[in-house]
Amino acid sequence: MNDQDPSTILIHHTYQAPAGFEAPQPPVYKASTVYFPSAAAMRARDWKSRAGYTYGLHGTPTTFLLEERMATLEGGLQTLLVPSGLAAITLVDMALLKSGDEVLIPDNVYGPSKALAAGELAGWGITHRLYDPMDPDSLAQAISPATKLVWLEVPGSITMEFPDLRALLTLAKARGVLTALDNTWGAGVAFNGFDLGGGIGADIVVQALTKYPSGGGDVLMGSVTTRNETLHLQLKYTHMRMGWGVGANDVELVLRSLPTIHVRYQAQDRAARALAQWWAGQPEIVQVLHPALPGSPGHAHWQATCSVAAGLFSVVFDERFATPQVDAFVDALRLFRIGSSWAGPVSLVVPYDLAPMRVRPAWRGTVVRFSIGFEAVGDLIADCTQALAALGA
Ligand SMILES: *Cc1c(COP(=O)(O)O)cnc(C)c1O
Repeated sequence: MNDQDPSTILIHHTYQAPAGFEAPQPPVYKASTVYFPSAAAMRARDWKSRAGYTYGLHGTPTTFLLEERMATLEGGLQTLLVPSGLAAITLVDMALLKSGDEVLIPDNVYGPSKALAAGELAGWGITHRLYDPMDPDSLAQAISPATKLVWLEVPGSITMEFPDLRALLTLAKARGVLTALDNTWGAGVAFNGFDLGGGIGADIVVQALTKYPSGGGDVLMGSVTTRNETLHLQLKYTHMRMGWGVGANDVELVLRSLPTIHVRYQAQDRAARALAQWWAGQPEIVQVLHPALPGSPGHAHWQATCSVAAGLFSVVFDERFATPQVDAFVDALRLFRIGSSWAGPVSLVVPYDLAPMRVRPAWRGTVVRFSIGFEAVGDLIADCTQALAALGA
């Protein structure tokens, strides 16, 4: 080696870090290129196997670690990581649906899932139909021989209706249709999406790791978890062909936050329920939408399924307040920042108009969604109190 140029020696260096270093956080392995010891080893290696490594896009020790931990959290066996929660939804649709198939989507689903169905899926000859998740008959009637996938989400996005998940899953199973659950709200903490009791569960569970698993408001990632090797492989082929890799540093952030997911979930739950209860006593609003509050749609189903809830709820302002007045309230908030997403350290607020978002909007009046961070509840209540003055009530 001594006759080599210093630039070459620096690249092909002899020092090897010894194995056996242990610390609370796992090491972060970064790679596009992965070395093989021989041509034969390269020819023999299977990119689908976790027994070895082929290329960064197909997995590293760092991504495999988070995949294993997410599978454990969700109660599944295999997990794939994708660059966002929305990409997790896209992966499932692309892997399981082909021209002539139909997918069923709850009317109160995470909005971009509907947009994907109306956009790309429609363009590829895949039809979709919306069902009312609060009425299992609506799902029963929507299932046809073309139905290849039923999406479920608990609770509904923004309006927070908690469906009878067991009834919906049982119905789809009885008709032999695959089910995919968006478990971002439950986060693998509130209930087991693969087993809601009596072995009833979804075939596929997706989650936006952007929310609770990250917990920082600074990472975008999604997971697709299964409990069936054949189904996992079907998803894995599409995952590989689409080239949906995730960055090692983003995985590192999620691995660092994951050990505290249960305490963060519970702390935000307590704070959100206290604030939701305070809102229930305010005369400016007609409804608080939080599944753990009696009177919220599907409360009994929440009670039968969970004992905890994500730190997230909506309020419906009385119709006498026009949208600009509600916006003035939102603008007057000081601790709550205006922004999407949830489960981060900062409390967030978003105003919504339901009419364009639902086939059957259940409420009139402007809806405002709050996600609760880690500020003291008393300060958040004081912030809402002072901002209500801006409503001009
Ligand atoms: C946030 C969210 C998503 C999308 O996650 P991104 O990482 O923002 O793409 C999907 N489903 C639900 C229920 C969500 O709350």
